[in-house]
Amino acid sequence: MLLDTYGRVATDLRVSLTDRCNLRCTYCMPEEGLQWLTKPELLTDDEIVRLVRIAVTELGVTEVRFTGGEPLLRPGLTGIVARCAELAPRPRMSLTTNGIGLERTASALRDAGLDRVNVSLDTLDPEVFQRLTRRKRHADVLRGLAAARAAGLEPVKVNAVLMPGFNEQEAPDLLSWALEEGYELRFIEQMPLDAQHGWRREGMITAGDILESLRTRFELAPEEERERGSAPAERWLVDGGPQRVGVIASVTRPFCRACDRTRLTADGQVRTCLFATEESDLRGALRSGASDAEVAELWRKAMWGKKAGAGIDDPSFVQPRRPMSSIGG
Ligand code: SAM
Ligand code: SF4
Repeated sequence: MLLDTYGRVATDLRVSLTDRCNLRCTYCMPEEGLQWLTKPELLTDDEIVRLVRIAVTELGVTEVRFTGGEPLLRPGLTGIVARCAELAPRPRMSLTTNGIGLERTASALRDAGLDRVNVSLDTLDPEVFQRLTRRKRHADVLRGLAAARAAGLEPVKVNAVLMPGFNEQEAPDLLSWALEEGYELRFIEQMPLDAQHGWRREGMITAGDILESLRTRFELAPEEERERGSAPAERWLVDGGPQRVGVIASVTRPFCRACDRTRLTADGQVRTCLFATEESDLRGALRSGASDAEVAELWRKAMWGKKAGAGIDDPSFVQPRRPMSSIGG
């Protein structure tokens, strides 16, 4: 098991497949992009599958989410999913993506064994999309979403970040649209994980603001606590249900006490938290010939050191050196 000193057990593994991206979301990275990892620095497909196998067979991981950067940019993605689907016990597998290219790959991913997708889409307005992501790809994302639904990668979830000066008014419109399309919408509070360190607590759109805005058009009733489990999103039944909307309030209502996550960066570092300032090098261990048991032990040790919480709202909070795109969101 991946246990920490607070008694939490990590069963949900987030694997970043690349730090590269074809968008430049303002809350994530600068217009010019970042200094990308080089090929030798990245884990190979074989190394990724080996680490997922160790996580699943020796460490009790049951859920694997592939992310990035943009995971659809990883050429071996479908093969990685197919090989992970053969593991016993088979993990549940999902993908967090900006949706560009999903139109072409959704059914192959489904056939390979992917169970679900989360597609990030912050706005229904192509022009706002272009300002927010600095790319003219809004229609590609909509087509990617429709392809995911058609391929049965359900429930299709949509992640939205609201940013002042861009889309802060859009919460009710996004929810109307998601209800109509049958997507499950979740708002994510903007977190201090952008490469430019431009996040400011003042001015950020909080879960409270989002709920207030949604309530101008919808009736929201909180979902029962037991249904939430360790999910980071607090969910509300919309107009009596059954459809729901979620809010991930990592800043104003952190849910660290129930966290069940462990993270692997594209260059093979274990992180215990998005906001961790320390990492443990599994790639080095793999490449110096460590056995599965030795790698598992390193991973367990790393998780044992997991901190109680991130404390973004705490004055002593320090933003981690790695940005979200490089950690894997
Ligand atoms: N490129 C993929 C995507 O956008 O879905 C996967 C990686 S991205 C880092 C994962 C999620 O993190 C996206 O839903 C994105 O909106 C969110 N995200 C990125 N930067 C963020 C920030 N500073 N605060 C909150 N969410 C952020
Ligand atoms: Fe790319 Fe995702 Fe970051 Fe946007 S949030 S720049 S899509 S990694």
